[in-house]
Amino acid sequence: MAVVAVLLGGGPPLDALISYKEIFLHYLNHARSLVNGKVAGIEPWQLIASSVTATLLGVWLYTFINQPESLTSRAKKWFFRLLRKLPYIGPMIQKRFDKAVDEALSNLSFLKCEKAYIKMLPAKGLSQPEVLQMLKDYSSMGDVRWQDGKVSGTVYSGEEKLTKLLVKVYEEFAWSNPLHPDVFPGLRKMEAEVVRMACTLFHGGPDCCGTLTSGGTESILMACKAYRDLAYEKGIKYPEILAPVSAHAAFDKAAAYFGMKLVHIPLTQNMQVDVKAMKRAISRNTAMLVCSAPQFPHGIIDPIEEVAELAVKYKIPFHVDACLGGFLIVFMEKAGFPLKHLFDFRVKGVTSISADNHKYGYAPKGSSVVLYSDKKYRYYQFFVATDWQGGIYASPTVAGSRPGGIIAACWAAMMHLGEDGYVEATRKIISTARFIESELQKIGHIFVFGKPEVSVIALGSDTFDIFRLGNTLSSKGWTLSMLQYPSSIHIALTLLHTKPGVAEQFLKDIRESVSEIMKDPKAKTTGVGAIYGMAQAIPDRSMITDISHVFLDALYNTDPLPAAALVNGSPGSH
Ligand SMILES: *Cc1c(COP(=O)(O)O)cnc(C)c1O
Repeated sequence: MAVVAVLLGGGPPLDALISYKEIFLHYLNHARSLVNGKVAGIEPWQLIASSVTATLLGVWLYTFINQPESLTSRAKKWFFRLLRKLPYIGPMIQKRFDKAVDEALSNLSFLKCEKAYIKMLPAKGLSQPEVLQMLKDYSSMGDVRWQDGKVSGTVYSGEEKLTKLLVKVYEEFAWSNPLHPDVFPGLRKMEAEVVRMACTLFHGGPDCCGTLTSGGTESILMACKAYRDLAYEKGIKYPEILAPVSAHAAFDKAAAYFGMKLVHIPLTQNMQVDVKAMKRAISRNTAMLVCSAPQFPHGIIDPIEEVAELAVKYKIPFHVDACLGGFLIVFMEKAGFPLKHLFDFRVKGVTSISADNHKYGYAPKGSSVVLYSDKKYRYYQFFVATDWQGGIYASPTVAGSRPGGIIAACWAAMMHLGEDGYVEATRKIISTARFIESELQKIGHIFVFGKPEVSVIALGSDTFDIFRLGNTLSSKGWTLSMLQYPSSIHIALTLLHTKPGVAEQFLKDIRESVSEIMKDPKAKTTGVGAIYGMAQAIPDRSMITDISHVFLDALYNTDPLPAAALVNGSPGSH
């Protein structure tokens, strides 16, 4: 027994030594008689019943509070649901909702279609020339011409010779499927090589590994799934993703799909994640940290080295989302635009990276990689159903069967471009971006967000509603992205913007638009811009969700007038 001496004030004699055990026992006795006195008149069954009730209540309260969706968010939803049910207010909200939906959809010209929809298989199959003729009608629909380089992102190369190569490669592997490596061993080799080449580009060590996926979203889903299962194994019940507010919505999707909680970390003035806030948000539930290189909204690279220090210190996996710019940043040094900071596996603490081949990798849509610094992380990404009647089913990613033609085309794009091809493409894109950015800085009444280092430039204004600039540019044939919180518009520059005259035209159109707007800087915003502005101001976010559902429904509409399909789409009707 450990007896601890306590010296009382005034230098007590040795016999004043008190044992802690005695003190403890004294208080225990005191507490016991106090409690026993209080429950003296209560029957034992009552004691048992109330203890059980209290325990159950405690458990219920704990699970009620600890859910992926925060208490305040749930309370808000409940409040607005109640509002919608109230007399007078409810129908009024409904009317506003219907009006917003009508406005939103009438602005989406691509939903309008003159020709009747096909709703049944043709009873007799069409001849090949007939199919190809019809195809021409479909490919010529709409009035946005991405070929002229007036669209932000979307098509990253579009180069004719590359298109021809990819189509040929697809033909060769059209019926292949990596689900059957025994039947298509060459395809397996290609896929492994795509992943290995990517590992090398991001300076992965000998244990670096990964998988090919169908796109950035799937790459991100897979990393989150892996870290969730790793967290479960560590005994974390409610795994949390700590991601900057600028991180791609695929992390929200992952959180929703996999029952994780996404904790959004604010940005600093320069649109980088606030590392101090990230540190404060770390808890024993943290399953992973996230940074982007660069992030989609403003094209800014987060302080990866600083966040990596947190990852190492607290032993938390750390994902770098390089989906957008991964195949640019790895070539920037060789292209003559060295980045100020490291972003890949050379940074201790970075455990995974996602990079989209189907963006600046110039591969066809449906190709991306997710890479891990070590196999011990990828282990948790895989899925195995051991007892299926169809056999032991082992699958690396979300999909079962996958398009071998796309994988082969992705491999072909990498092999055809080679390091010199990628470096040259990167040089063109980054020099165009630097030129546009420096010219934009000279135009008054607008500003560039942060210090963009890669291919995305986001614009805002303190003088007028920036969505008006988006609208005016659209009337001049440009399709830019509209961003929110804060209101801004951005352009992601691709190879199509590096063609002669495109950047100059863009700047000229911006200058003209700004001076047009400045004739009446306080004028009301109209069109799509107005909808974006309004949407940010609606406190009931479930309303936005409902409007978006109407939009998604409309995508699958096969009736002549899109409006006909909309009558049914209203809050509470699904
Ligand atoms: C494009 C993008 C993704 C993933 O998008 P997909 O459309 O699924 O390929 C993820 N993160 C960032 C930063 C992106 O720009």
